Amino acid sequence: MSASGDRVVVRAPAKINLALRVGALDEHGYHDVVSVYQAVSLFEEVTASVPEGGAGLSVTVRGPGAAGVPLDGTNLAIRAARLLAERAGVPAEAALSIRKAAPVAGGMAGGSADAAAALLACDLLWGTGLTRDELVELGAELGSDVPFSLVGGTALGTGRGDRVTPVLGRGDYHWVLALATDGLSTPAVYAEHDRLQAGRPARELEPQVPADLAHALRSGDAARLGACLENDLQDAACSLRPELRRVLALGEDHGVLGSTVSGSGPTVALLVPDSSSALELAVALTASGVASDVRRVTGPAPGARQVEPVATSPHHPSQQSR
Ligand code: ATP
Repeated sequence: MSASGDRVVVRAPAKINLALRVGALDEHGYHDVVSVYQAVSLFEEVTASVPEGGAGLSVTVRGPGAAGVPLDGTNLAIRAARLLAERAGVPAEAALSIRKAAPVAGGMAGGSADAAAALLACDLLWGTGLTRDELVELGAELGSDVPFSLVGGTALGTGRGDRVTPVLGRGDYHWVLALATDGLSTPAVYAEHDRLQAGRPARELEPQVPADLAHALRSGDAARLGACLENDLQDAACSLRPELRRVLALGEDHGVLGSTVSGSGPTVALLVPDSSSALELAVALTASGVASDVRRVTGPAPGARQVEPVATSPHHPSQQSR
């Protein structure tokens, strides 16, 4: 048994992309990308407990979109726990419970956040004592966005997005997230991007934060940041989901500082100056019906970290299968 007892709760942030530049395909069929991520205050929560009877790995999922999340060995939290057990040479025994906040297949890397949270939760539960850097290395084997959810803050991702370098900046930013009921498949959005790009030369990528974005982040000026948000996948996401353009247009009508489809979409992140403008925009988006759900968040948020378990009541169990 670990020093943490028989139950560990970890929260890991979802992300938005402040910039996403897509380059050429590599020899394995992956696009080279340069991405600037910002972690936002939308947290996936993973609880890892010692399983009754000590048998293997299991997972339950609850929260929005839980029905679309696999419960078998393909669940990213299970894959994370299995990988950690293998590398640390400990038995893979944990009951994992995921409480989702990020939309499933929403371009916010919620599944990667679950993997990041599971890595840290199992590390603490099993007392394997890996350093954060070692967890980040394991995370890179699981998926390109897992390392970032461990690191949090604002960071540059290069390669397939899996090499993560923190970016210096100041200020807290207010975002309104327009969510869609149905997710978009990341491979489908890349395929649409390739279709739209056909015949044009691949974009040359510099493995660094775009200069205007670096300046904006250093200044902490939200209006400046809003002016340089960019996403090479936005046209592809809008081509597959034309209603996203209505969300972007509504944001413009309301004078947002900037807006962008997050990752491969369909979540749209709209930047506003303060919390009262966030509330106003959230009300307008909800009333218009262009978004199925709306969240107000701030960024940058910290990376995966342990939190205190909330006491459970026998009448209101905090852990349950979906
Ligand atoms: P990205 O932007 O990294 O592609 P995303 O936010 O668009 O991610 P996710 O919600 O992270 O998408 O997951 C995409 C797919 O991964 C889901 O459709 C689901 O089938 C699968 N998946 C596996 N494990 C999980 C998990 N724990 N949570 C969510 N999805 C998972």
